[in-house]
Amino acid sequence: MSAPNVQDVLEAMAAGRALTDQQVAAFVDGVVDGSVSRPQVAAWLAFAHARGLSASETVALTRCMTNSGDVLRWPEGPQLVDKHSTGGVGDKISLVLAPLWAELGYRVPMLSGRGLAHTGGTLDKLESIAGYRTDLEPDALATVLEDVGCFITGQTAQLAPADRVLYALRDETRTIASIPLIVGSILSKKLAAGVQRLVLDVKTGSGAFMKELDQARALARALVRAATDSGMSCTALVTRMDRPLGRAVGNRLEVAEAVATLKGAGPDDVRELTVQLASVEGAAQVLASGRAYERFARMVAAQGGQTGSLDRMAATPAGIQIAEVTAEASGIVQQVDALTMGMAAFALGAGRRRAEEAVDPDVGLVVDVQPGQTVQSGDVLVRVHHRGGRGLEEATRRIQSGILMDDADCAPIPLVHEAVHG
Ligand code: URA
Repeated sequence: MSAPNVQDVLEAMAAGRALTDQQVAAFVDGVVDGSVSRPQVAAWLAFAHARGLSASETVALTRCMTNSGDVLRWPEGPQLVDKHSTGGVGDKISLVLAPLWAELGYRVPMLSGRGLAHTGGTLDKLESIAGYRTDLEPDALATVLEDVGCFITGQTAQLAPADRVLYALRDETRTIASIPLIVGSILSKKLAAGVQRLVLDVKTGSGAFMKELDQARALARALVRAATDSGMSCTALVTRMDRPLGRAVGNRLEVAEAVATLKGAGPDDVRELTVQLASVEGAAQVLASGRAYERFARMVAAQGGQTGSLDRMAATPAGIQIAEVTAEASGIVQQVDALTMGMAAFALGAGRRRAEEAVDPDVGLVVDVQPGQTVQSGDVLVRVHHRGGRGLEEATRRIQSGILMDDADCAPIPLVHEAVHG
């Protein structure tokens, strides 16, 4: 049988016919070797976005994207686990969870990304630690995994290269928000990294990619189903991202908060979500013991970072000033809006608009209040860490508009909306 050509694939999609595994493979192969033209890829994405993909088409897409580049193989040993979050504001869970899992006996080959717009990225946070490298070669990473049990590094160009091409075109053609395309994109990278068990944190709320709970649920279910059908054990938690996670928003400040959490302290929501995502007996006790901090410090050292700087992450570096945003009236805090706080940190220079831009590791916010808390006029709501006033006016304006107060009690929103099991 001759290989399907892309015209047939596009015709099948236009006619609403199901794609065969061979047609999906021919398309993905052509995306990577360049034999499918960019307009043809754009048309395919538009069809996929408009009509969706069936469960079996999604699994075929995921498999072909996984096999489009290197598939990492690790030696026999403890289970290889990873976590993926759909992104949010103040989300430093990966920094805590990877060493916690390693301390609990798992291996964690974590490939993370950078922040975009108001959302933070794990790599940017880690790079605020002097010397930390996010570009180690596979052999060096294998040694870190063997010796320490976890690493956190960047995606390599050889891993799921189909995703890079498709993602760039999805961005251009406004087809990012398609559940099957998101599923293929996320899972192909995890499968290619050799992960055996994946825990997903699908966020919902103003600071999340999926603003509505129903959308987040649908994504969580589709991810878990496709992961399971692809042979990877998977659970998803649908979690709250209406307010920042923890108190710190900004790269170095978030590492300082992660360090505090690893030492057994840290904010309640960061500790609770880490333990729920770990979903292992004894995780809460190990986190409370502070033992995971030693593991984190070993990982940092193995990846070139200066562990001596970890204790100084909470100190204010030269060149940074702190401004306070205070309550103009007394009342009960109703909302600390995640998107607005993320945008405030972005205005200060903590985030980037385009992938190639640099971030300022030292600027950001520390939010001192939570929804439901009573505050008096003049109380400090947020401490703004800024560099020479850059973006301070905008950040202050945003913070003031994002913290809503009232006299009424405020109904709590659960941290975890639901768990989806494979
Ligand atoms: N994260 C990814 O890696 N891919 C997507 O498509 C969306 C979020």
